[in-house]
Amino acid sequence: MKSLDLARDSAARFLESLPERHVGAKATHAELKKTLAVPLSEDGEPEEDVLRALIDGAEPGIVASAGPRYFGYVIGGSHPVAIAADWMTSAWDQNCGLFSTSAAASVVEEIVRDWLLDLFDLPRAAGVGLVTGCQMANFTALAAARHAVLESAGWDVERKGLMGAPPVTVLVSAESHVTIHRALRFLGFGLDAARRVETDGQGRMSAGALHKALRDVEGPTIVCAQAGNVNTGSFDPLDEVLDAAHARGAWVHVDGAFGLWAAASAGRRHLLKGFERADSWATDAHKWLNVPYDCGVVIVADPRAHAGAMSATAEYLEQSAGAELDQVNFVPEFSRRGRGFPIYAVLRHLGRRGIENLVDRCCAQARLMASLLAADDGVEILNDVVLNQVLVRFGKGSGAEKDETTRRVIAAVQREGTLWLSGTTWHGMAAMRVSLSNWSTTDEDVRKSADAILVILSEGDGT
Ligand SMILES: *Cc1c(COP(=O)(O)O)cnc(C)c1O
Repeated sequence: MKSLDLARDSAARFLESLPERHVGAKATHAELKKTLAVPLSEDGEPEEDVLRALIDGAEPGIVASAGPRYFGYVIGGSHPVAIAADWMTSAWDQNCGLFSTSAAASVVEEIVRDWLLDLFDLPRAAGVGLVTGCQMANFTALAAARHAVLESAGWDVERKGLMGAPPVTVLVSAESHVTIHRALRFLGFGLDAARRVETDGQGRMSAGALHKALRDVEGPTIVCAQAGNVNTGSFDPLDEVLDAAHARGAWVHVDGAFGLWAAASAGRRHLLKGFERADSWATDAHKWLNVPYDCGVVIVADPRAHAGAMSATAEYLEQSAGAELDQVNFVPEFSRRGRGFPIYAVLRHLGRRGIENLVDRCCAQARLMASLLAADDGVEILNDVVLNQVLVRFGKGSGAEKDETTRRVIAAVQREGTLWLSGTTWHGMAAMRVSLSNWSTTDEDVRKSADAILVILSEGDGT
């Protein structure tokens, strides 16, 4: 088992190096190919040699996204206890579709399901599936929505498909995540099915505009709302969205890839007001809960609709009498990794208080970052920092000049390596996105990063 020892030592060294590592990748595509792309041999190579070559060859191309100063996208790191549980998951190599293929995985996922519903305070009878990420959580939830709204219209979509089905209206926030639109493609609705409801200056769906849109709608309807805008972290006014949509009999889905975790914080739960009345929710564990990839969570209030869309039966499968024990009925995957083990480990390790602290600490660090940057008169914070996201614009003068300065600062920050983050276009303006989602980030990391950004901003002055 020398290869396992080598992996253990290399992993420990890597994790210890994270706080001081150059955050972005250093090697180019060509450099990585040069060391890693060897001809596939006829007779193979010794395990240890292969592992060493892989570790050494990949090293310069590894992005320190697991580390404390990676603020790009909304990524999150991996808590050590979750990594360890993930190692065990690989070693156990359970197929987690059925109780009969892994009794332990099935029971652990059942416990994780109860803990998560309790933590979010969502209906305890809901169906829960552990999927690869929020993309598939959105897909699964919208498949359940499709099942339910068409069933109400007397149409069995699983049997008959969408051809000839009553038309389904899908209303989405104008700023809904790309994965909502992708899910609509996968589900056969098509991109054009999505009617966009306008948003306000913080990226929140306008409840007034939704009311108006719903007035002309008849028949099966799905509304996709958002808890945690990827740019601003803002929340759609869920209470009003739910009142308006449910009055018309619509299904309401909430994409809360990171925002749903606000439910675990007493100080932030108000952002989600009313969300427990929704019909489905999607979130990630690999973002804010800091488990390794890939791990998302889909929750559907009516487990019948959930299983109606996902269930799988076949003569050769040894399925449980209680269908809820067989995860295959709640996810699009068939054979499946034991995603429940790392979630179990990190939830049990942190406890309610630990999770609340993780959420609150990241939110406080987002505010710290915003205030440190805003102290410079060449910096503008574009959003109300209500959660863990900060949207920053740099420079002086015209809009075009600010766009240019902002893009220059982002590119220079990425090269410099103290931290890593990325850009976006927000309401027509170039902006830098900062996401605080890592369990290991300290206030000192935030200060060091803000300093590095401001030095880079000042170096560009006059050039
Ligand atoms: C990240 C994200 C997704 C997609 O999640 P994956 O885990 O990458 O599949 C969906 N919606 C929102 C709001 C997100 O932030």
